[in-house]
Amino acid sequence: MNRTSMLRSVADAQDPWDFVVIGGGATGVGVAVDAASRGYRVLLLEQSDFGKGTSSRSTKLVHGGVRYLQQGNIPLVMDALRERGRMRRNAPHLVHDLEFVVPNYSWWEAPFYGIGMKVYDALAGKYGFGSSHNLSREETVERLPTIETDGLRGGVVYHDGQFDDARLLLDLARTAAGQGATLLNYCRVTALEKDGEGYVCGVHAVDEEEGTKLSVSARVVVNATGVFTDDIRRMDDPAVKGMIRPSQGVHLVLPRRFLGGTSAIMVPHTDDGRVLFAIPWHEVVVVGTTDTPVEEPDLEPLPLAEEVDFLLTHAARYLTEDPGPSDVLSCFAGLRPLVGGEEDGDTSSLSRDHTLQVSSSGLLTLTGGKWTTYRKMAEDAVDHGIVLGGLEPQECVTQELNIHGFHSHPERFGELRFFGSDAPAVEALIRSVPTYGDRIHPRLRPRIGEAVWAAREEMARTVDDVLARRTRSLVLDARAAAEAAPAVAKVLAAELDRDGGWIEAQIESFSRIAEGYVLR
Ligand SMILES: Cc1cc2nc3c(=O)[nH]c(=O)nc-3n(C[C@H](O)[C@H](O)[C@H](O)COP(=O)(O)OP(=O)(O)OC[C@H]3O[C@@H](n4cnc5c(N)ncnc54)[C@H](O)[C@@H]3O)c2cc1C
Repeated sequence: MNRTSMLRSVADAQDPWDFVVIGGGATGVGVAVDAASRGYRVLLLEQSDFGKGTSSRSTKLVHGGVRYLQQGNIPLVMDALRERGRMRRNAPHLVHDLEFVVPNYSWWEAPFYGIGMKVYDALAGKYGFGSSHNLSREETVERLPTIETDGLRGGVVYHDGQFDDARLLLDLARTAAGQGATLLNYCRVTALEKDGEGYVCGVHAVDEEEGTKLSVSARVVVNATGVFTDDIRRMDDPAVKGMIRPSQGVHLVLPRRFLGGTSAIMVPHTDDGRVLFAIPWHEVVVVGTTDTPVEEPDLEPLPLAEEVDFLLTHAARYLTEDPGPSDVLSCFAGLRPLVGGEEDGDTSSLSRDHTLQVSSSGLLTLTGGKWTTYRKMAEDAVDHGIVLGGLEPQECVTQELNIHGFHSHPERFGELRFFGSDAPAVEALIRSVPTYGDRIHPRLRPRIGEAVWAAREEMARTVDDVLARRTRSLVLDARAAAEAAPAVAKVLAAELDRDGGWIEAQIESFSRIAEGYVLR
């Protein structure tokens, strides 16, 4: 993926695009992959970086959703379990099976959750990961050496999927590009274009790097802007009633010593009825999440003090060592684009199903849902878009489409396994210049060569692109990431032909972002 050639293909386009997709999160990039792989001409415009919004801030689970099973939403769970299986099949380098343990402290929990998990297994059918079973107290401690043993009676094991959300998003963007789509980051849609009869027939956008304006024509315009969905809908109809209720979820990142072993903890019912996870991920533990309604969408939402307190208090209840603020390596917040409900109601009960809406002027809005169901959401949207745009119908092919980087044995590539089939090329690049083998920071795994790769192959344009999403450094250790910024800025400047002023501005801007991930 190269931004200059992507811009050129926009400038050279003579005919209207079949699909113009607004938004480069899981929803929009999923649509781009689906439509491009059916042979349609696709342009995707993202105002910031791919995955800058909610799609890099999830709990990193590819799951049916045990919580939705509790809510009795069986079709949602079944759809998601099927998609979970497909995601692992199509991107084995980034999606894998993870064992979860529900620790039991009351007599009724073993039969209750034991039966519930058997239902979960049954709903997965042939897409099942591993089967669930009950554990004795000793077996539970064996799997979770740091679990609070006071009052512990046993546990229930079940299986779900885990992934690296931002890395999968980038590989989906590369899949779409490989199928012929044009994708631009840092290109914000500012207005919709309508024809003489009032139908949406294109968009106006601004290239945020150069400040230049773009106008593109489209047969179908897809609004896939997550929590910003209503902003685009109001470009179509300023009087339209808002449909999105953003809900913030916060995660704390702790050192691995807090959760020994390789299993995750799932607490099905916290004090306020939420589900809480403590999950081993890369070399850390991710604890989350919360569900707090917020008024205004933001690309860099900030955790609230009460959310942090809630997570620390509950983590302390289930772990032998009580984590304190100084143990937190990073704290990140994301906004769920939940649809509907009463203005001041509780967001945790709002549906996680997706919503597809066509406005009277033909704007196709796709929102809600979950990362796990991105492929199914895209298939639905493109099926509708074909009718809406009067396009020659083509069958969806994404059920078994390998995602960029697909490799059946990524573990062969050691610390570069997340690159999948790209790993040998990344390794060759790292070896090509002695300094490329240096780590970006003593406490962070990635090497300088990976920042070079990000700029050359993954359209990274800023220090934040490299540290937050291409390497995940910001969410793994925010202080170390801030300290790595000067080295990364220097490498990027050489790749992108930028000067000293740009380096200074990048370091300052990233330091400000990283501040929001550090607990004081
Ligand atoms: C805390 C939390 C935990 C979650 N955990 C999980 C999980 O474990 N598993 C799971 O399956 N799901 C999970 N989800 C849900 C999942 O992350 C979301 O459903 C999904 O990421 C939404 O993707 P999206 O593309 O719709 O939104 P986003 O990722 O926010 O993408 C929308 C994009 O639109 C862009 N945009 C906005 N306006 C414009 C414009 N004018 N021009 C161009 N671009 C624009 C934004 O910059 C943004 O990048 C979680 C969500 C949260 C908040």
